[in-house]
Amino acid sequence: MTRSKSLQSLAYPEIRQSLDRGELTCVELTKSHLALIENKKHLNAFLTVFSDDALQQAEVIDLKIKKRTAGKLAGLVVGLKDMLCYKDHPLQAGSKILDGYFPPYNATAVQRLLDEDAIIIGRQNCDEFGMGSSNENSAFGPVLNDLDIGRVPGGSSGGSAVAVQTGMCQVSLGSDTGGSVRQPSAFCGLVGLKPTYSRVSRFGLAAYASSFDCIGVISKHVEDVALVLEVIAGADENDSTISRKDVENYSELEHAAFKKFRIAYMSETVENDVLQPEIKDAIVKKIDQLKGDGHIVETIDFPLNEYVLPTYYILATAEASSNLSRFDGVRYGYRSQNTTDLASLYKKTRSEGFGKEVQRRILLGTFVLSSNYYDAYYSKAQKVRRMIRDDIKKIFEKYDFILMPTTPSTAFKLGEHSDNPVEMYLADLFSVQANVAGVPAISVPCGADRRGLPIGIQIMANDFEERKLLGFSKMLLEMN
Ligand code: GLN
Repeated sequence: MTRSKSLQSLAYPEIRQSLDRGELTCVELTKSHLALIENKKHLNAFLTVFSDDALQQAEVIDLKIKKRTAGKLAGLVVGLKDMLCYKDHPLQAGSKILDGYFPPYNATAVQRLLDEDAIIIGRQNCDEFGMGSSNENSAFGPVLNDLDIGRVPGGSSGGSAVAVQTGMCQVSLGSDTGGSVRQPSAFCGLVGLKPTYSRVSRFGLAAYASSFDCIGVISKHVEDVALVLEVIAGADENDSTISRKDVENYSELEHAAFKKFRIAYMSETVENDVLQPEIKDAIVKKIDQLKGDGHIVETIDFPLNEYVLPTYYILATAEASSNLSRFDGVRYGYRSQNTTDLASLYKKTRSEGFGKEVQRRILLGTFVLSSNYYDAYYSKAQKVRRMIRDDIKKIFEKYDFILMPTTPSTAFKLGEHSDNPVEMYLADLFSVQANVAGVPAISVPCGADRRGLPIGIQIMANDFEERKLLGFSKMLLEMN
């Protein structure tokens, strides 16, 4: 192994080589990650560290490696956003309402990681039920961005991003309903993929807005994202919305270097007043580079752009209000102590157990679903969603990819948008499009602003074109 490079900066294939050659053990590797978690505790990225379990797993996998029976991900140290069930380990979705909950089963994605001998190191802090863009909505306090601890890491998978950023783990599984994997990846200088809706089973993922929710992958390396996706994707009898389409060999990254692509960018995203000028410059520079390399890059109009964010916030809150109705203090989780009858049990449990933002969304969602407003909001938003998807699919008849910024700004200061929810929702301006349409999207690093804060460029592809998307991302990164 190249000892000159730190262990934490290597992509998994290199680590695996060292493990297979006996130059490194899973126990050593796990200990190095545990030491970093301890060292960087102040960032608040992990809610629970599974030290003993992880070390035990590492010992078992070391033996398998010796016997040459180890799985595809042997020794890959993974962290889980506090939204994914890991049997008999705590899960709270960043919320007080799930106090004391230990899932009795594994999420399908988690089970598939374990089957391939990945090591699960802990559960990671996030915005409550995935609702937020800064990780300030966690019942366990905010996560800090290691590049500047006065700034947010993005959200809602903020803990997952910071854990990878600092080398506390190699890969994190997050969830992306409106950008929660891509936005924190952009803020922390990482690669973050939201696959096509229905590519990865949602079984065992705490539900926020079921028709948008996707499990996604965060890493420093495109290769590792591809490999993990290959393991977790595919048919699952526990998720009725899953696609039965074959899973491609994502890890054999398509060599995009010699291909010439047709790429579109929406004038509404690059010429947008809210876009930080340095991000615009970085995107324009990338576009010029691509053109210089012989790709066709064209600007297109996307008039529905202004409806994307409202459509998302109407539908996501409606689905959330329904999904979160199951938390009533009766079956599991937190239960208020000062109750007098059943109605007060529900009321007090939910008022004390849910944070402010979650309550706001439940109220909003209940409102748009109420009989007087259903047609004006919910039903209309469903129709607009279909129009947005149709228009995006049409773009992919002519183009391979759509390119845009991942976020309107780089990492903002803690507290900067806390008092203004609409300002906070604007952080998702560019990321929600892929969730509304259901197509895959990735954020990859694309330079930095004058403060040295990372900029993310987002690439969207047609349904199930993850392999092509990952190959192109790798090429884009190598152009830096
Ligand atoms: N920030 C968005 C929201 O609050 C997206 C969250 C997510 O993708 N889970 O809804």
